[in-house]
Amino acid sequence: MYINGEWVEALSGKRFDVTNPATGEVIGDVPDGGADDARAAIAAADEAFGAWASTTAFERADLLYQAWQLMKERTGELAALMTKEQGKPLRASTNEVGYGADFLRFFAEEATRVTGEWLPSKTANQRFLVLHQPVGVVAAITPWNYPMSMLTRKMGPALAAGCPIVFKAAEATPMCAQAIIQLFHDAGFPPGVVNLVTALDPKPIGEVFTTDPRVRKLTFTGSTAVGKMLAGQAASNMKRVSVELGGHAPFIVFPDADPVRAAKGAAALKYLNSGQACISPNRLYVHTSGADAFIETMIERVSRVKAGPGTEDGVTVGPLVNEAAVDKVERQVIDALDKGAQAPVGGTRLIEAPFDKGHFFAPTLLTGVADGMTIYREETFGPVAPVIVYDDVDEVIAMANDTEYGLAAYVYSDNMSTALKAFEQLRFGIIGINDVNPTAAQAPFGGMKDSGLGREGSREGIREYLETKLGGFAL
Ligand code: NAD
Repeated sequence: MYINGEWVEALSGKRFDVTNPATGEVIGDVPDGGADDARAAIAAADEAFGAWASTTAFERADLLYQAWQLMKERTGELAALMTKEQGKPLRASTNEVGYGADFLRFFAEEATRVTGEWLPSKTANQRFLVLHQPVGVVAAITPWNYPMSMLTRKMGPALAAGCPIVFKAAEATPMCAQAIIQLFHDAGFPPGVVNLVTALDPKPIGEVFTTDPRVRKLTFTGSTAVGKMLAGQAASNMKRVSVELGGHAPFIVFPDADPVRAAKGAAALKYLNSGQACISPNRLYVHTSGADAFIETMIERVSRVKAGPGTEDGVTVGPLVNEAAVDKVERQVIDALDKGAQAPVGGTRLIEAPFDKGHFFAPTLLTGVADGMTIYREETFGPVAPVIVYDDVDEVIAMANDTEYGLAAYVYSDNMSTALKAFEQLRFGIIGINDVNPTAAQAPFGGMKDSGLGREGSREGIREYLETKLGGFAL
């Protein structure tokens, strides 16, 4: 663990093993921290806060640029580690390192753009000055599915704003977190400004993060159930909260779209990270007029998707994170098949060699999916594309909105009015219009409803780490 500028063991002296999800091999072990370790990290951050907040925005920007450069230089080794620990194909890991680095550059730039305001007064001898200052110590909890970029997406804005940060990394991917923290050490960030606690049991650390009065802000990325619970605890202690949670993205193909192009987009998007992405499409609504062409193209594309260890050439779908994840996907697929869906491609676990030691599910296409099947409402987090054929264009937006989630949605249409209306009417935070990659460091990322609170990335991202202060001056 990294506390106050040093790599340290857990106070208990305990460690836990980390495994490769493609092979089941133990690839390393890390300290198993607890509540007291979390408190020590918070104490270091609290101690560092005053001096860090007093650095100039330009000094903080220079350090973030340095970390960005190191991350770019280390792309190869970081990507190899990510594939070994998280399982995604090497090319996807390389892309994630690039995406993660983008947040450091963007927020290095953004650090110097935090400005205030001078407001008019009705009274001649009064002035108002508005200032934005760092909120204080940030506690951050990150998931395993994007084990490096989810750290930098929080570090970039927090550090740029002048806040020290304490991480609790996901128990499946602590080594990726260590490698990112090492970058910040090597870039020269002062002791206490960046801290990392690793732990097998996240609960005691979550308790400390949400109750310790020195923590002023909680930022969490993970499941809706855990996010709601932690946000509740943190809010009752009046901490600032942002949470990026689950999703259940609709992907709508309108009758005026090219169904073949839409299917190519869906096939490219759905199997990224083995479907373990909060913005992965979970309901593919295709109008009857284009359904045959769409399904035919999907069958052809999904059949070509190659599962396997992420280190192997040509593999585009790696393992799932663990057996529980495979069980969940299998349960959803069996439920759908029992209720009348078909699986023209895949539909089963992969258990024969070379898959027998890892956690694999076959890239799957489900057709004939309908409301009433578990997969229609529950987040899948696996390589399964469920297709729903619809008739009524006026109803499809309402069907898409009929979910407690509100993170991402995708629309295919060649008609500007249809696309614009869908963009306006869909109750989701991120909408891809004929675009399967609507994310970037400079773009706001976040959800509505049960998908979360707040935005990451973009100019909005840094505001989550700033307090507003008003000064009234009587002359
Ligand atoms: P998870 O909620 O189980 O775990 C996420 C993090 O929370 C991990 O670090 C875990 O250790 C920690 N955690 C779990 N229980 C905790 C507790 N009681 N107290 C404190 N910390 C606790 O989710 P997961 O299975 O790791 O990740 C998958 C989920 O994350 C999906 O639902 C996905 O949609 C969501 N996700 C959302 C985004 C986004 O930006 N919106 C990004 C990636 C993943």
